[in-house]
Amino acid sequence: ILTVSNLTKKFGYLTAVKDLSFSIEKGNVYGILGPNGSGKSTTLGIVLNVVNRTSGNFTWFDGHTSTHEALKKVGAIIERPNFYPYMSALQNLKLVSKIKEVPEDRIEETLQLVGLWERKDSKFRTYSLGMKQRLAIASALLNDPEILILDEPTNGLDPQGIHQIRQIIKKIASQGTTILLASHLLDEVEKVCSHVVILRKGEKLYSGPVEDMMASHGFLELKCRDTSAL
Ligand code: ATP
Ligand code: MG
Repeated sequence: ILTVSNLTKKFGYLTAVKDLSFSIEKGNVYGILGPNGSGKSTTLGIVLNVVNRTSGNFTWFDGHTSTHEALKKVGAIIERPNFYPYMSALQNLKLVSKIKEVPEDRIEETLQLVGLWERKDSKFRTYSLGMKQRLAIASALLNDPEILILDEPTNGLDPQGIHQIRQIIKKIASQGTTILLASHLLDEVEKVCSHVVILRKGEKLYSGPVEDMMASHGFLELKCRDTSAL
């Protein structure tokens, strides 16, 4: 679905992403794992065309579609969920479907999927952080994307909220949607992802199946549960 080749991003002297290559195959759940400042969000920003790359390349799908066209088949949440506070969840999603030019009949399906259908008429401002994040996921799924991209999807949530989001991600993946998520939590990647790209200071340390990462890097044995130790 996505091929990233020798991608580099510099902000002045700082190299945020360095010669990064990886590819995303259909049907898997990918994690980009690394501590704060390792270049996760920058990488996602580049492939979503909101950050300009310094060098290297990336291609979506078969490589023949323009990035602009390809991004119509991508769902992404890379910022804190932002909706109209005094409008209900349903009204907000109706607005999004107009903007995205997708039919409104996906709204019920996506709200059901994230467990918010019963609360569809509540105003966005009355939602908990976890519900706001779930609404953002529903919104990102309106165009029935081939891939869903999430930047730190469980940040700031309480344990129950974290669990709900992870369950929803797994459910979306089980329906065949490819997932790419950024996280600084090894635990999250272990629980949710099948594949991982590990970044340290913008450089790739490892990419491959999560199982092999556990074996080859011996994270468990080292009790290195926290990516800040990378
Ligand atoms: P976090 O876990 O904190 O979200 P991250 O892995 O997403 O971190 P990035 O946000 O990609 O990391 O940042 C990588 C590096 O690039 C950091 O050192 C950051 O300070 C720097 N950086 C990111 N965006 C900019 C910008 N717009 N201008 C200057 N430096 C930036
Ligand atoms: Mg980030």
